[in-house]
Amino acid sequence: MEKNQTKIFMGNYHDPLRKTIISFIQFPEKKEKVAVILFPIRNSNGNNWTIEVSTQVGCAVGCMFCNLPKFSENLGVKHLKQQVSLVLAVAKKFPDHFNFSNNEKFKLSFTDGGEVLLNSNFSEIVEYAVLGDLFSYLKFSSTLPNAQIVHKNFDRMIEFTEYNPDKRFHMQVSLLASNDEMRKKIAKANLMPVKVVSHYADKFKQETGRKITLTFTMMQGYSLVNPEEIRNQFSPDSVMIRLYALKSHAKNSLIGLQNLDESIALSLSDELNSLGFASFYASSPQEIIVGYDDESNEEKFLQYGKRIIF
Ligand code: SF4
Repeated sequence: MEKNQTKIFMGNYHDPLRKTIISFIQFPEKKEKVAVILFPIRNSNGNNWTIEVSTQVGCAVGCMFCNLPKFSENLGVKHLKQQVSLVLAVAKKFPDHFNFSNNEKFKLSFTDGGEVLLNSNFSEIVEYAVLGDLFSYLKFSSTLPNAQIVHKNFDRMIEFTEYNPDKRFHMQVSLLASNDEMRKKIAKANLMPVKVVSHYADKFKQETGRKITLTFTMMQGYSLVNPEEIRNQFSPDSVMIRLYALKSHAKNSLIGLQNLDESIALSLSDELNSLGFASFYASSPQEIIVGYDDESNEEKFLQYGKRIIF
């Protein structure tokens, strides 16, 4: 990979005390850049590090608030390894900021770089993530497009969770809206009906004992979260709920999308809690600025950190 094909930024995007690396890689044989991000997470067990990789070039789902280009290609294990090696090699150059041990276990996140369950290389990708020593925790996010391959890959993921009890798995479903009519307005792709998503949530819970997290991106002017509607279709025993603030980037500004007023988002979250769901609203501005490669993001990254030559 040539140096000038990769843009790398480092700054305090997620955590005022600790640095994040954001890299945009242009694979020589691919048309668009993909992102790989290394960031710290603080949790009740202390700190850990997440590597967020891209699994596709672009995305076929076409959520209205997302700035990924149209889908062009699936990535494979070879590309994932390159993303992970790059971000760790950058981190090793800055040991004061990235002070993890030689046998550090990372969280590998398949959340923002394409629709992972539409990838025909899904099994190989998860096998690489599960069988190696580098990752102890895998996080998936999917909108559950209504396609045969998604059903197959979801079942495959459940198999991986069963056969690898030493690894932690977290599954997020980006439901987008609590009813099918509104979901059709938010995504271009044909998605599974909410009742099928609910079936999958129950299945995931029964077979793994863990809950799926349903996520919603909050936007002004769109009635996306109706707590009663959610309660009628999902059991609080099977799902948790996370409401996300809208990411700020050039495309959202261009089409006039704005974040929902925080007090409304918080009261929706309270209502969901009162219906028995574990629910919370994530408004972190550090989280909001992480996005894909466009000039407006570059300005934001430079406000919080610097571009580095590697
Ligand atoms: S599924 Fe994820 S990556 Fe794809 S368009 Fe929607 S938000 Fe973007």
